[in-house]
Amino acid sequence: MTRTISLPDGTCLPALGVGTWNMGDSTVRREEEIASLRYAVEQGVQVVDTAEMYGNGRSEHLVGEAIAPLRKQVFLVSKVLPSNASAKGVAQSCRQSLRQLGTDRLDLYLLHWRGNVPLSETVEAFRTLQQEGLIRYWGVSNFDTDDMHDLERCTHSGECVANQILYSLEHRGVEYDLLPADRQRRVVSMAYSPIGQGGALLHNPVLGRVAARHTTSLGVATPAQVALAWVLRQPNMLAIPKAGTVAHMRLNLAAQELVLSAQDLAELDGAFAPPRRKEPLAMI
Ligand code: NDP
Repeated sequence: MTRTISLPDGTCLPALGVGTWNMGDSTVRREEEIASLRYAVEQGVQVVDTAEMYGNGRSEHLVGEAIAPLRKQVFLVSKVLPSNASAKGVAQSCRQSLRQLGTDRLDLYLLHWRGNVPLSETVEAFRTLQQEGLIRYWGVSNFDTDDMHDLERCTHSGECVANQILYSLEHRGVEYDLLPADRQRRVVSMAYSPIGQGGALLHNPVLGRVAARHTTSLGVATPAQVALAWVLRQPNMLAIPKAGTVAHMRLNLAAQELVLSAQDLAELDGAFAPPRRKEPLAMI
């Protein structure tokens, strides 16, 4: 089952996208990373996420090379650093990202996290880029509830289309207030590091037990697939796992076939408790 999310103007996107942090850093892995991204897009993934920060432009260069033959099928996302979030900085960073990506327009441009530049200045810079046709949509990343309130004071409803945040079984704090509030505002949540960066989460015994009860077209489900299916179960949620190999990308695509049962969800709640009170937004 391919889940989709809708932007405020009704534009529909598959809920499974891909991340690219650390891609392009290793010459040994480069060809496989490019193959992985191309495979994803050929299989219907649209959202490809990168940032000027990743490898000082190496990720953008690799993404540009990977998607060159497939650009029209991609919804391309990049991010501006808070230190470049002034009117002049945003204009320069965006043009540099476009050059590195080998394209003439970003589909979505995000403020990577909140810094010292007034939000109104960054928002105005995003609007200018939209008028110039250099970006289609803009959004934010790592914005907590109070940041979203502040943003609302200098924007119109529907202008900010996405908030990219850390969300996984290990980091559920946003379920308490940010996810429902962003849903209410029709701001799409983009879950980053949804499979715990391939770390301890994937060795959790409960996750292993749930995975063993399910199969996909690729065979018995894996903990990573369950972790991803768990994130994708949320409405209004786009997930951007990073897979540097075609084998991992295939598994992540097949995770969309998983439907977690009430028993699965209860066991996962037992191992990874949902929040009972406001928690500050976690960040990587
Ligand atoms: P992820 O949770 O996506 O985990 C990526 C790791 O999991 C890699 O080591 C990858 O290995 C491994 N992996 C991928 N698929 C599988 C699988 N099926 N089975 C086992 N292991 C797997 O972590 P990221 O931190 O990369 O987050 C995803 C994306 O989110 C980033 O790439 C970036 O685009 C974005 N991001 C945004 C942030 C922000 O501040 N806005 C912060 C952090 C990330 P391999 O590479 O070998 O496939």
